[in-house]
Amino acid sequence: MKKQFSVIGLGRFGSSVCKELYKLGHEVLAIDINDDKVSEMTRYATHSVIADGTDEKSLQSLGIRNFDYVVVAIGDNIQSSILCTLLLKELGVKNVWVKAQNEYHQRVLEKIGADRIVHPEQDMGIRIAQHLVSEKIVDYIELSPDYSIVELLATEKIANQTLVELDIRAKYGCTILGIKQGEDINIAPKPTDEIKKGDILIVIGHKNDLKRFESEGV
Ligand code: ADP
Repeated sequence: MKKQFSVIGLGRFGSSVCKELYKLGHEVLAIDINDDKVSEMTRYATHSVIADGTDEKSLQSLGIRNFDYVVVAIGDNIQSSILCTLLLKELGVKNVWVKAQNEYHQRVLEKIGADRIVHPEQDMGIRIAQHLVSEKIVDYIELSPDYSIVELLATEKIANQTLVELDIRAKYGCTILGIKQGEDINIAPKPTDEIKKGDILIVIGHKNDLKRFESEGV
């Protein structure tokens, strides 16, 4: 079923969320206080309107409470971001996702009932740093302080061996979730599947185990 989304604040983060949702075929209402931002987004949203996300009447008249998800992507102006989130929750929006600027912003957002708080710069910074420290790490997703999913490039060291021969779970405590071979993704690898040089292994595990596997095993 098509979901209805609204994005408030069309800076770099908000506009990319908006464009991607629209590209995925969803209804998106794009809102910004700045008319240039709104006109830039007309091609990438179902509707785009100039409105102040901190103005209760404007939010009400846009029928904001009927949207399944509202993303608050008001950047630097923490006060406006907080006020907008508060109003959205008071108006009964079920899912309010908010971009936080820093830890204090996050704490306030938690208190006023934001349903999900995201830190795009911080998360991307971590992923880029992981990529920089090892050329084998293609991507990195933090699941919790202890567990992650990494995409690792298979080198000659493990090429032409099957998963059962490599026995990664017993040796390193990590689990291979999938194997990317070019455009194809094998999401249910079998013990007899053979790894080729250049394959990308999607691996889940404890950070220490993943680190050991990355430096010794792959
Ligand atoms: P980013 O870091 O994602 O680029 P910006 O701070 O550049 O974030 O962008 C935030 C956007 O939020 C801007 O386009 C700005 O006009 C918009 N904005 C700021 N305050 C409000 C508000 N009260 N209501 C709606 N949009 C707002």
